[in-house]
Amino acid sequence: MIEEVKASVNTANATGQHYLVHSIRHLTDSAYVLRFDRNQMDFIPGQHLSVGLANDPQAREYSIYSSVNDDFLEILIKEVDEGIVSKKLKKVKPGQALRVTGPMGFFKLNMGSIASDPHLLIATGTGISPFHAFVKSYPELNYQLIHGVRYGQEAYEKDHYADQRYILCTSRDDKGHFKGRTTDYLRKFQPQANTRVYLCGNCDMIFEAYDILTDKGIPTENIHTEVYF
Ligand SMILES: Cc1cc2nc3c(=O)[nH]c(=O)nc-3n(C[C@H](O)[C@H](O)[C@H](O)COP(=O)(O)OP(=O)(O)OC[C@H]3O[C@@H](n4cnc5c(N)ncnc54)[C@H](O)[C@@H]3O)c2cc1C
Repeated sequence: MIEEVKASVNTANATGQHYLVHSIRHLTDSAYVLRFDRNQMDFIPGQHLSVGLANDPQAREYSIYSSVNDDFLEILIKEVDEGIVSKKLKKVKPGQALRVTGPMGFFKLNMGSIASDPHLLIATGTGISPFHAFVKSYPELNYQLIHGVRYGQEAYEKDHYADQRYILCTSRDDKGHFKGRTTDYLRKFQPQANTRVYLCGNCDMIFEAYDILTDKGIPTENIHTEVYF
């Protein structure tokens, strides 16, 4: 079976190379981390890939979750009700081939100041993925991470972040540090004026957070966004 899959690697098509799956790590009933070959891919933390099953025309964008120091690639996916690709990828098995295109995107840190300037990383749901890549790739990063989810169990691999740097906002239970949405938390929070802000996840949060932050005096050029849907 694996031999057959390996044969397909050599016939990877022009629209995306084939990469073999190593493992799938289920974090909740719907969220999972897919690990697969890196094939020496160079990427900048914050970039994303287009991923689908080999020989399937459907693919979707996924931020890279793993570090530049890992010899594999990982993506964090939430299975969407009525979704197509997020459901198919949840069923893959080790040894199966994926079609991967990329890396792509400009959602990245300004490397000159990652240890000195404060960084405010704000995510909803799987929008935490590029921030995981930032934190794992750059241990010197001076950051505060605000993660918004519905329930405490969606605090994906929270032990990968330093306790004092991680704030969990839960809108539907009280298992986080703050009960409410990330934007409710932000309204009560005063960032330093030189903070570099990164927003990732659903567009409602991003638009609302953008307005709150600019009202609090963060220059627009310090705010970076990655919209998932
Ligand atoms: C640059 C970029 C990076 C992305 N990175 C990630 C990532 O790291 N992890 C990840 O899980 N997704 C990520 N996404 C979203 C992903 O590309 C797909 O949209 C998602 O997996 C749904 O695909 P689907 O084929 O299952 O559903 P589709 O059939 O394409 O969509 C079904 C519906 O679900 C909505 N939807 C999409 N994502 C979500 C969500 N998370 N929650 C609720 N509704 C949603 C869509 O707007 C659509 O209305 C990213 C999107 C972009 C543009």
